[in-house]
Amino acid sequence: MSQLYYLTDEQRAVRDLAREIARERIAPLAAHVDETGEYPHEQLKLLGQQGLMGLHIPEAYGGTASGSLAFCLAAEEVAWACASTATIFLVQNLGGYPIIFAGSEEQKRRYLPKLASGEMTAAFSLSEPGAGSDAAAMTCRAVRKGDRYVLNGAKMWVTNGSHAGVITVFVTTEPGKRAKGVTALLIEPGLKGFTVGKPERKLGIHGSPTVALHFADCEVPVENRLGAEGEGFKVAMKTLEQSRPTIGAQAVGIGQAALDASVAYAKERRAFDQPIAAFQGIQFMLADMAIAVHASRLVVHHAAALIDHGITGAALESSAAKCLASDTAMKAATDAVQILGGYGYTREFPVERFMRDAKITQIYEGTNQIQRVVIAQQLLGKS
Ligand SMILES: Cc1cc2nc3c(=O)[nH]c(=O)nc-3n(C[C@H](O)[C@H](O)[C@H](O)COP(=O)(O)OP(=O)(O)OC[C@H]3O[C@@H](n4cnc5c(N)ncnc54)[C@H](O)[C@@H]3O)c2cc1C
Repeated sequence: MSQLYYLTDEQRAVRDLAREIARERIAPLAAHVDETGEYPHEQLKLLGQQGLMGLHIPEAYGGTASGSLAFCLAAEEVAWACASTATIFLVQNLGGYPIIFAGSEEQKRRYLPKLASGEMTAAFSLSEPGAGSDAAAMTCRAVRKGDRYVLNGAKMWVTNGSHAGVITVFVTTEPGKRAKGVTALLIEPGLKGFTVGKPERKLGIHGSPTVALHFADCEVPVENRLGAEGEGFKVAMKTLEQSRPTIGAQAVGIGQAALDASVAYAKERRAFDQPIAAFQGIQFMLADMAIAVHASRLVVHHAAALIDHGITGAALESSAAKCLASDTAMKAATDAVQILGGYGYTREFPVERFMRDAKITQIYEGTNQIQRVVIAQQLLGKS
């Protein structure tokens, strides 16, 4: 990887720490996590113990306030080793952002220190069975009755929803008002009338549980509301704008892993009495992978740096980072399978896992079509 001259000493230290943990402690378990679907408890505990879960959390609440770029550097390293662990690591961030943006002092004190230490994990629940890209079409409803909200309906695709100690759930308090009727609530496990569905059986990121949430006359105290009634959609969109570069970083990690595996294999594998790396057809594929992964990394870092500098309205850069990096990861992983030939198609080598894992980065936190919609709205002034 070329030198990233612009990183501060703190950012370099975060990257180096994450790299050491990822390569020595997380990567050796990645194939097992993929094969069994086991939740990566120990890997996440380690990330928490080493202070990497609190990179985005203010110091007053137990974090290090290291910023978005530092978090992206760590996310890339974790994803290089294991995309499942990286997904949960990213969702810790995604679930924590709404509390940082919109939480009351009491809510911040209750949750953020535990999220920073990794003692508690978080989840973020916007999507529903019938409302994904069009999230404002949600129907999961909360009706206020005195000092409680009564929830009915279902949410879907909640990463870590089965393991989280706190879930930011977006519901409608005024059906028909779409985005303006959305309210955010903090839900803890164990509430009467709240159940978690079975984990989805997925193409990739097998160690990262994805579940539905069901609410049947579930009573939630009004003090669990995050921000004002009807302000939930703004909180969700602000969160996603901050979070999308981190998905880009996950994709860069997968793309880099695919490139590294391809280079190593091309030097070893022989055909026609020479290493396949001697063939220009292979060299050009490697070069194209390197160009695209490098460019994606820079675009991700740029979007993260805008966030760190408090430059608002970076929706275009944030979506572009997620979109470019995830398309790159998908292509790099597919090309890696090609470079490894028949072996690439087997579970003997990790590249087929990279290909399955890369696919999700083009889908979650808004599909890449939706990222293009966001970018076009910014270009055309229609946001
Ligand atoms: C493994 C996994 C984990 C996830 N984790 C979470 C999570 O933690 N929290 C959460 O809230 N959600 C989560 N999601 C949900 C995810 O964000 C949605 O799946 C995604 O936003 C797409 O919604 P959908 O699946 O309903 O697809 P749909 O919205 O039904 O889209 C179907 C297709 O239509 C396209 N499309 C839709 N609208 C347009 C348009 N205007 N222009 C062009 N094309 C369009 C889409 O790009 C897609 O190709 C997760 C999903 C998965 C698979």
